[in-house]
Amino acid sequence: MGLVVLMSYVIGAKKNQKKLGGELPVKPTKKVIMDDTEWKEKLTPEQYRILRKAGTERPYGEVYSAFKKQGSGKYACAGCDTELFSSNEKFDSKCGWPSFYDPSQAKNVKTSVDYILGYPRTEVVCAVCEGHLGHVFTGEGFDTPTDKRYCINGTVLKFVPDQPPGSEKKSHKPAAPSN
Ligand SMILES: [Zn+2]
Repeated sequence: MGLVVLMSYVIGAKKNQKKLGGELPVKPTKKVIMDDTEWKEKLTPEQYRILRKAGTERPYGEVYSAFKKQGSGKYACAGCDTELFSSNEKFDSKCGWPSFYDPSQAKNVKTSVDYILGYPRTEVVCAVCEGHLGHVFTGEGFDTPTDKRYCINGTVLKFVPDQPPGSEKKSHKPAAPSN
């Protein structure tokens, strides 16, 4: 009797050990990898130029005007639909491009230094599809919690508006058929 209890205890302990040490931690998101042809099919030419070729949209364009009018919601990557920013971190920097003081999902946003203009700039990249989003500038004196300006091309952001509270309750049930 006692031996059986001891045996099952030992087996149980071994199982736990394996669980703790044997497996790699689960990655939060899977990488999205596509070749150039696939990207060209998925994206508009302007999105392709920005995301895949580190291009920059024209400032104060239509996308920017639309961005300024958007209410609360999330901003996802146009390349892979991963959430990157939200309206909570959006602020008006008056620079002509959508600005955020922080990503809403930090693990989905990567940075790296580029020298495209001859001086170092910190490039902002989607961590899931490696798409170019824009640049981040620090210490410009904005009155935000981080004093960072994520200067992002609105062309490569998909706006997903939040559901207004109570909107799901407003289901218009069809009137009962009268016999
Ligand atoms: Zn992406």
